[in-house]
Amino acid sequence: MEKMKELYDFSKADAALDRKLEDLKNTDTRKELVKNQNFLKASNKKVESIQEKSLQVRGEAQNLEKQIKKIEEDYDELMKDISYYSEAEDDEVSTEQLNEMKKQANDLISKSNKLGENAKALLKQITNADKELRDVLQKMIPVKKAYDELKDKYQEEQNSVGAETAELKNEVEKLKSQISPDILSEYERIKGFRRNPVSLLVNNRCQECNMQLPVSVSAKITHGTGLVCCENCGRILVIL
Ligand SMILES: [Zn+2]
Repeated sequence: MEKMKELYDFSKADAALDRKLEDLKNTDTRKELVKNQNFLKASNKKVESIQEKSLQVRGEAQNLEKQIKKIEEDYDELMKDISYYSEAEDDEVSTEQLNEMKKQANDLISKSNKLGENAKALLKQITNADKELRDVLQKMIPVKKAYDELKDKYQEEQNSVGAETAELKNEVEKLKSQISPDILSEYERIKGFRRNPVSLLVNNRCQECNMQLPVSVSAKITHGTGLVCCENCGRILVIL
């Protein structure tokens, strides 16, 4: 197989770049940043849900107030009638009818009181929701501040290692350009399930999985044209 050294060097540089990118993803700053971000996301969800519920309860309370107002109007009308008929000299309405009207008036009062209680309970719910909302927003303030600071810090970290990463990327690209597309696609395929897709064969032993391989493998690698893979781990074998 040709260009074994190039393939091996490329695989090493590629692995180094992956490690670097992995490290970048896992800095303490980033971990803390993600933690704060998750907290803020969850808090925002909570805020939305409280506001939604509060809006619904406010609607119910308004509805109740309308009903109470209507009952009060009916009550006032009824009381005017009662007062009128009580003082009237003719017998337009009987005592029974008058009593019935008074009973209706009482019913309206108790109905209004009952709805008033319900409205009060709803108002209490709204007050509680407002308090809960303030608490959530209050707790978000320092986290948001920390998040913004961490974001700046993370950006600085990214910038400072950016140059280093760029250099590595260039090196990887340069080495990659020497590898044929067929081998590259096989390399990427193996990389999908194995770290370090290229392994050195030393004394007939695969250096990645440590498997002892038949002597014929070595000859195949040195004299053959195609790729030879480790029968145990599937990595491309090279001899330097
Ligand atoms: Zn192996």
